[in-house]
Amino acid sequence: MTILKGQGVSEGIQRGEIRFFRRKNTGMVQETAEDAALELRRLRRALDLSVRQLEETAKQTRVRIGDSAAALFEAHAMMAADEEFVRTMQALIRQGKSAEFAVRQAGERFAQLLGASDDAYLRGRAADIRDVAHRIVENLLGVWEEKNPAGQEHPVILAAEELSPSETIRLDPAGILAIAVQNGSPTSHTAILARTLGIPAVCGLGPLLNEASDGLDAWIDGETGELVIEPDEEMCAEFEKRRKGRERRSVELKSLVGKEDVTQDGQKMLVYCNISSPGDISAVLENDGRGVGLFRSEYLYLGRSDLPGEEEQFEAYREVAQAMQGRRVIVRTLDAGADKKAESLGLPPEENPALGMRAVRVCLSRPELFRTQLRALYRASAYGKISVMFPMIASVWELEECLAACRCVQEELRAEGRAFDEHLETGVMIETPAAVLIADELAARVNFFSVGTNDLTQYLLACDRQRSDLGRHWDPHHPAVLRALRMTAQAAHKAGIWVGICGELAADLSMLPEFLSMGIDELSVPAAFVLPLRAAIRSHSSKNS
Ligand code: PEP
Ligand code: MG
Repeated sequence: MTILKGQGVSEGIQRGEIRFFRRKNTGMVQETAEDAALELRRLRRALDLSVRQLEETAKQTRVRIGDSAAALFEAHAMMAADEEFVRTMQALIRQGKSAEFAVRQAGERFAQLLGASDDAYLRGRAADIRDVAHRIVENLLGVWEEKNPAGQEHPVILAAEELSPSETIRLDPAGILAIAVQNGSPTSHTAILARTLGIPAVCGLGPLLNEASDGLDAWIDGETGELVIEPDEEMCAEFEKRRKGRERRSVELKSLVGKEDVTQDGQKMLVYCNISSPGDISAVLENDGRGVGLFRSEYLYLGRSDLPGEEEQFEAYREVAQAMQGRRVIVRTLDAGADKKAESLGLPPEENPALGMRAVRVCLSRPELFRTQLRALYRASAYGKISVMFPMIASVWELEECLAACRCVQEELRAEGRAFDEHLETGVMIETPAAVLIADELAARVNFFSVGTNDLTQYLLACDRQRSDLGRHWDPHHPAVLRALRMTAQAAHKAGIWVGICGELAADLSMLPEFLSMGIDELSVPAAFVLPLRAAIRSHSSKNS
């Protein structure tokens, strides 16, 4: 038995087999092969498998995200079966090339042909062909299935050194009992996504969790951060007991559905939810979230090779707005860059990406990209109560340019006779120290603030949120963070606007008395935290704190 202790980042207890995800380097492949017949058979198997996987991904994406995102994978499945593409690969194999080399070379030829086209749509398909070719090569090398354990006969505990957001979004929650990673941190996007999907997760487990753990039985506790590999009987009994206790607690919490979020002394707090896709709304409704305080819209852009168009985004935002039936839905505009790499944006690598081209900086430097998203958001606002929030604002001029872009879109839609909410509210994410210091000027221009404590902690303490080895230096309870929160709340209230928190700190129950004393108006948390937070709010009295 081996007991590993990391940081619990998404609650839940599970037992299962560990499957270690290896990110194999597919960079170098052998160029030639002697047995062409064997290579042709290998190619056929890999092509069939790729088509099956892509069709299955399309099916799942339709349920999780929507029709237009699913269409992308359907198009990929068609590419993998395209006769001319297949014939080119077969011809290369007959000339003595290995299957892997043939796929890569055929893919590159087709991609270059498309890339040279005058038509922007066809040029965009070059990246799709490369993506499909990459998948076929991975299937030939037998590494794709490990990347996407959805095809397992039974669900597993997925272990890895680290998972990127685009890898995480490709995971099928039905095939995963829990996630265990060597590195990572509670504010990494894998952790955030795991919480949103309700998958138990532990990060920072260290190098003792490695390939040798593959196939071993384990218990994992996403609350305490424990991973027990090859548990003995006594340990199994202890975990079973814990699991039963948690189940009882969750039944008790269910009795709070429909109850108000108000303290013993009558102070109200709005409890909203963080989501990453329309598929997350069912959990929000089940847990009685009173609104969506943060829709991380960048997840519509991750894990794919093209950009989501206006229609696709409109459908996603409309679906969420309608499902929430008049409850507020705050959509944050694209916050890509840094740890959230969207291949489709083609952002160049940077030395210090957290301080570089990310979030609103990308949008302001690419007006067409921003306009597409804003048009989709405003159009969707006719179907519910959508608010728009801008991430990583550091200067007044940035906010003014964002608001000007909104006004342009409103004028366009009016001229086209399209409906939208004329009273749509806008807000600023307070996540840079600069935004805290100029909060009064920002507050004069918008309807609300939401504090992103993940980035605010990172930038205030000069501490990388992605790293698990900074230990005590990473401290969201640091007096500087708390003072920044209080200053932000004061500036907001002085200007007559409301202020919420949507970073991970919002779900930290030990901070609730502090937030109430600052007069924070709203907390936005993963859906699973709504009822525990409601219980804490309802039992709070300022006299006892
Ligand atoms: C934050 O920075 O606190 C936040 C909510 O945004 P994200 O974690 O998506 O950067
Ligand atoms: Mg942030």
